[in-house]
Amino acid sequence: MSEKVIMMTAQRSSAPAIPAPLEAPTGLLADRLGRPLHDLRISVTDRCNFRCVYCMPKAVFDNDYQYLPHTALLSFEEITRIARIFIAHGVEKIRLTGGEPLLRKNIERLIGMLAELTTISGKPLDLTLTTNASLLARKAQSLKDAGLQRVTVSLDALDNTTFQRMNDVDFKVDDVLAGIARAHEVGLGPIKINMVVKGGMNDQEILPMARHFRNTPYILRFIEYMDVGASNGWKMDEVIPSSEVVRRIGAELPLVPVAANYTGETAARWRYADGGGEIGLISSVTQAFCSDCSRARLSTEGKVYTCLFASSGYDLRALLRAGHDDAEIATALAHLWRARSDRYSELRTNDTEGLARGPRVEMSYIGG
Ligand code: SF4
Repeated sequence: MSEKVIMMTAQRSSAPAIPAPLEAPTGLLADRLGRPLHDLRISVTDRCNFRCVYCMPKAVFDNDYQYLPHTALLSFEEITRIARIFIAHGVEKIRLTGGEPLLRKNIERLIGMLAELTTISGKPLDLTLTTNASLLARKAQSLKDAGLQRVTVSLDALDNTTFQRMNDVDFKVDDVLAGIARAHEVGLGPIKINMVVKGGMNDQEILPMARHFRNTPYILRFIEYMDVGASNGWKMDEVIPSSEVVRRIGAELPLVPVAANYTGETAARWRYADGGGEIGLISSVTQAFCSDCSRARLSTEGKVYTCLFASSGYDLRALLRAGHDDAEIATALAHLWRARSDRYSELRTNDTEGLARGPRVEMSYIGG
């Protein structure tokens, strides 16, 4: 394994300075490329019960891996306070991630607290969650009752052997499908299904997955295998470009492109020509979408990352626990976002081999 994995526990810094003068949030924040702050992804745990080869490979996240102690995690009260400040800066959508978010004890309580928040225009927050569905069948109703609106489920194959090669644990496809069906039943839709495609490992499942989810209420999305973090041993020749996914499906099930639902949507939309539903393509490697990226990420222990491929985060937890008030933290956040110029995927796409690869934060720590 060439690149060094950043052990999060080793990364602790003193509280950053509060810029002056203090400024009240306007909800109109924009970064150096003119991108607003619209989406916040919150990682509520660095733990997972899967070992997906593209995210938390067993070789690295083994029994000796040091996970964050519970005291290091943001409390639900701290997460909700930070979320309120992000909303004041314009955030309208919050996605709960991990690791596996359903492993965080009493997550329904956090969802209930976040569901009470409204956007600056008074609309309900778009509150969603990404899960591997291992606990979804059991928890779907309580998540819905707590105020969750939608779920996105990761499923990388229908064939059990291939699925287990991808997640490296003995978990059955049928149990994931049962979780999806239960989530649909209780109204946590429209449900999106995310399939990471790794060449030579599960790309033979592209068509079976498309056939299976066609003519269903679910939106299947194919994600190009990415060089996230430093642990998955990423190689460009294992990337199946989205154009190839469209070609393979289209040869049997003709597709037509569809306009985006909103600016900054990560998936390119395609519809089956015969009306059989919709798929999405998330093409971070071959068709980067940094120009509209309005996403910030809050790590499990309170650091803000302005890009999935960032190597360091801004320590909000230190500000909270040092007793700074919301106006001070909001000011610090405004300065952080205004200084943002991340566009890693664009740079990588233009120069896959040459791009200097510094240490990058692990995806399991900040959510995909
Ligand atoms: S690479 Fe970074 S800037 Fe580009 S879309 Fe992804 S998170 Fe946004």
